[in-house]
Amino acid sequence: MKTLEEYAALAGQTHGHMCPGQILGIRMAMLGLRSLGIDDPVKARKRLITFVEIDRCATDAVSLVTGCRLGKRSLKFLDYGKVAATFVDLQTGQAVRVAARDDARAKAKAMFPAAADASQAQLEAYKVMENADLFDLLAVRVKLKPEDLPGRPRSRVTCAECGEGVNDGRERHVADRTLCRSCAGEPYYEVLTRDEEDSGFRI
Ligand SMILES: [Zn+2]
Ligand SMILES: [Zn+2]
Repeated sequence: MKTLEEYAALAGQTHGHMCPGQILGIRMAMLGLRSLGIDDPVKARKRLITFVEIDRCATDAVSLVTGCRLGKRSLKFLDYGKVAATFVDLQTGQAVRVAARDDARAKAKAMFPAAADASQAQLEAYKVMENADLFDLLAVRVKLKPEDLPGRPRSRVTCAECGEGVNDGRERHVADRTLCRSCAGEPYYEVLTRDEEDSGFRI
């Protein structure tokens, strides 16, 4: 495992800027991995699955340290809006959830009262605060299904409505038909009507 400073230098490059979220994410991942007894995340890459609960800065740093990525199915994004992550060791079956403590923000401000703003105070404070002041750590159990694991797709079906392929059991069965989630009534988009398209409809 690299040091906080080494990860921070890398994070600044890959994330595009340095911010409190990067420090939080790096430390969150380092704590999670250490708690699982994993010292070398590069070596442990194949046995590690990480769940992140927010699509903000810290998640990039968690991905950087763990090596877990969406495209590898080793990073799972759950839209809970919380700066928290759960690290699962597939080899031992152990898992820990690390959540950023809300009161760390106030502590950061108190530690660096002369900082230009809250973000600057957090950036400095999060580098030096104790783990116990920054995070809550819990041993947890995560039930992973075979179709959630990395590797080749476990199944692939064709949606009876739109004809698109659906991998890994994400299909729905509605009245004897096999449908993708969109066609089964869970769409996240609406197709524009011809008129809307012609009128240059924009979000
Ligand atoms: Zn950021
Ligand atoms: Zn469909």
